[in-house]
Amino acid sequence: MKDTYRHKGLRKKLIETLHEKGIRDGRILQAFNLVPRHLFLDKAFEEWAYTDKAFPIGNKQTISQPFTVAYQTDLLELKTRDKVLEIGTGSGFQAALLATLGVRIFTVERQELLYKKTSDLLKKLGFNNIRTFLKDGMEGLPEFAPFDKIIVTAAANDIPTALLSQLKIGGILVIPIGKERQQMCKIIKESERQYKRIYLDYFKFVPLLKGLNKD
Ligand code: SAH
Repeated sequence: MKDTYRHKGLRKKLIETLHEKGIRDGRILQAFNLVPRHLFLDKAFEEWAYTDKAFPIGNKQTISQPFTVAYQTDLLELKTRDKVLEIGTGSGFQAALLATLGVRIFTVERQELLYKKTSDLLKKLGFNNIRTFLKDGMEGLPEFAPFDKIIVTAAANDIPTALLSQLKIGGILVIPIGKERQQMCKIIKESERQYKRIYLDYFKFVPLLKGLNKD
């Protein structure tokens, strides 16, 4: 679990890349400085941890590309102490980045192995403001609703209604929609029945799947 000067230097370079690609929020860039992405990857990928790429994390899943993490985080318009629900814990990197920005995170994963591995890692790294859950995220987390913000980090065919109903009025849901490739969608809950939808850039995510996976 070492974080060396070399890693820190590589993070600075990654931040420059993210800035060049259009991420301008200084708080988000600073958070990338503070979260050692190489600790969220298998040792085999450590060398490339600070390149702007997605990598396999086991169980056919991936850690999202840093640009995608930054892009989704930006769309959430976070305020300190926001209560945030993440669907798709995966490696835990996105959750760690959000927690570093001072919000409270509830993160849900459907794969038991990833859930266990990542819960342990986040505890070891001292992220006490992240709560992890083994659940089907399509149902959201009704017992802790409503949330200020919801972020989905897997590709959905359509917008799960449970997530809309668990959002506060004025809250924001960020979700990639589509099959082969996905269009990022930002939804603002304007009233109990009115939602504003904004469709943005295209990305590639692993699919949002139903039910739990215990293998
Ligand atoms: N945020 C993650 C991205 C991981 S990839 C990171 O920073 O690494 C997406 C994750 O979503 C995978 O781990 C996958 O198992 C999970 N997932 C897919 N469908 C899900 C569902 N219905 N509920 C919860 N998690 C789901």
